[in-house]
Amino acid sequence: MTHQAIIGLIGGMSWESSAQYYRLINEAVRDRLGGVASARVLMWSFDFSEIEALQHAGRWPELSRRLADAARALEAGGADFLVLCTNTMHREVEAIEAAVHIPLLHIADPTAEAIKAAGLTTVGLLGTAFTMEHDFYRGRLEKTHGLTVLVPEADDRAAVHEVIYRELVAGQVLGASREIYRAVIARLVARGAQAVILGCTEIMLLIGAEDSSVPVFDTTELHALAAVERALAG
Ligand code: GLU
Repeated sequence: MTHQAIIGLIGGMSWESSAQYYRLINEAVRDRLGGVASARVLMWSFDFSEIEALQHAGRWPELSRRLADAARALEAGGADFLVLCTNTMHREVEAIEAAVHIPLLHIADPTAEAIKAAGLTTVGLLGTAFTMEHDFYRGRLEKTHGLTVLVPEADDRAAVHEVIYRELVAGQVLGASREIYRAVIARLVARGAQAVILGCTEIMLLIGAEDSSVPVFDTTELHALAAVERALAG
């Protein structure tokens, strides 16, 4: 029997994307191990209405505290490593890492590795305003991984953010919003983007490869598959 480490998912941000992580991780384990094999997973799932209110109030220290508590609970439950199922909350990743003794698999790393493996260097980034505008995410892509990151112009950033918080986290996937995203992607490509990062874990519900003239890199899928790689690494 193959040894599997226990994956600790910090989810509920939103559950719409956590459900995708759970599916992708279990499918990948089944593909790798065959039969009826499935993943060993613990999940902490937040009430996203509380998280979203704290984010928009700028109460990052409180968010940090809650994430650290969740990480400690997963560690106490037996998780071998942590997967934070949201790009945005990686803003507080240092507080999580300080709270536990188990490692955290940063969402930007498998994404950047896939982009570099494809021989690409200039990427457009779609995500929440926090992800597109604060330094924690593009900084890691640029400084740690040497990528050049383009974010949409201000109006486009606002539109991308609104679709995430008004629709995608509430399970609404609308054709009109897909058209907005397609246009934003086209403008990033016109500015030189060789690829587009779906840097919010719900965007994959709305956008796929067919919506872009350049390759898209889905953080949800890449992060979930990297978690499986690590869990099966022995
Ligand atoms: N899931 C989203 C992300 O990947 C947004 C929700 C959140 O703010 O955590 O950034």
